[in-house]
Amino acid sequence: MSTQSFPTGVRDIVAGFAARTFSAEEYARFVLGEIERRDPELHAFLEVFDDVVQQAREKDAERAAGSAAPLLGIPVATKDNLLIRGRRAGAGSKILEGYVAAYDATAIARLGQAGAVFLGRTNMDEFAMGSSTEHSAFGPTKNPHDPTRVPGGSSGGSAAAVAAGFAPAALGSDTGGSIRQPAAFSGVVGFKPTYGTVSRSGLVVMASSLDQIGPFARSVDDARLLFNVIAGRDPLDATSAAAPSATAAAKKPLVIGVPKEYFGDGLDPAVARSVRQALAAWERAGARLEEISLPHARFGLAAYYIIMPAEVSSNLARFDGIRYGYRAPDAENLLSTYEQTRAQGFGAEPKRRIMLGTFALSHGYYDAYYEKAQRVRRLIRDDFAAAFRSVDVIAGPTAPMPAFRIGERTSDPLQMYLADIYTVGVNLAGLPAISLPAAPVSVDGASLPVGLQLIGQWGRDHALLDAAADAEAAMPDGRRAITA
Ligand code: GLN
Repeated sequence: MSTQSFPTGVRDIVAGFAARTFSAEEYARFVLGEIERRDPELHAFLEVFDDVVQQAREKDAERAAGSAAPLLGIPVATKDNLLIRGRRAGAGSKILEGYVAAYDATAIARLGQAGAVFLGRTNMDEFAMGSSTEHSAFGPTKNPHDPTRVPGGSSGGSAAAVAAGFAPAALGSDTGGSIRQPAAFSGVVGFKPTYGTVSRSGLVVMASSLDQIGPFARSVDDARLLFNVIAGRDPLDATSAAAPSATAAAKKPLVIGVPKEYFGDGLDPAVARSVRQALAAWERAGARLEEISLPHARFGLAAYYIIMPAEVSSNLARFDGIRYGYRAPDAENLLSTYEQTRAQGFGAEPKRRIMLGTFALSHGYYDAYYEKAQRVRRLIRDDFAAAFRSVDVIAGPTAPMPAFRIGERTSDPLQMYLADIYTVGVNLAGLPAISLPAAPVSVDGASLPVGLQLIGQWGRDHALLDAAADAEAAMPDGRRAITA
């Protein structure tokens, strides 16, 4: 069949396999062709595995033998901070140079059991620290909608891979917005589940109390398909929880809380219009909008940029030149091995955060910074809990701006951090949230995606996904992920 006729959504591909319209091997060859054609420019992948066709053939054989695994033969791209046994994993950092994973991340193992074909490792900001994928030690990824712009981050490679049609789905991780914000910039769906719903075992840690693995896909339905596979309690992660159960059909009308704090000064007017239009379309389709207030939302970034670096400074102590990856070649003794390995192996952003976190946790500053930030974290959580007493879902922009130009924000960390102003509060509160494409905006002749963020109640991931599917169906011209 001609390359044009291959579908790009997970459900459609599964249907194509079932109807024997094409095989997993044929589909794998199709995406490999797309990657070969465009990834030299976009750089979504750090590595495309050399056994993809072989994996796909095995899936075809399993199908012939009667397997009905839900993702059998579906190619999935995975972020470079997820361990796949026997393969390289680098978290976008030079300090993990040469590191080969000794075990599968639980999310990876579950994808494998569901029959997925692992396509390759996607580019990311080093240790998931960033909002543009420019902090990768291996060079930036470009936005498929406009290659002069960033795809968002830190899971920018996964978002770009799905947007460009390299993979129908991908996994990323979200500590402060790193699934939702690149999904918004790249015009795809990105879902961060309730904290603990997907095991963190085998995820290269950034900030343990915030990190969460989740899917990228081209529709809410496809994202849910992946979520159902990877979610669930795992003895290897004590913070993991049972997979949330599917909810009974939601009561109608859905009441959507629209926080006034998410439409303040920092919001790009074109993005605001697009999000308001999406909400109006949803309202016409039967949702009820209600203005709400999240009074402590404005302290979210400040609290996040204390708590996250504090956890980073402790978690990244393990990269010492002894246990993993890179080791400085010329160190004279143990202490200088540590010092030189870390000096040479870490890029500027991890170093900045290790220093900030070490400071925030140090004697005399702990109370003033870390403990204060934890109190603010509680207030942010309480704001959400109060709002959810009167609304079903909270909606607003995912990010305050569309994709910015490569290089535009790298010299000013604070400008970069602002890209997460609407996403970090969700991680502080542990809630589920999803970004889906609203109408694109036109900037300097380019048509750039905009994300609508929906935030759900703790543990009610399926109710959130139901609401998101409802919003998606209400979008003008049934808008789905935007192929670039
Ligand atoms: N961009 C945010 C940061 O730099 C969030 C990162 C993430 O979610 N991994 O910390």
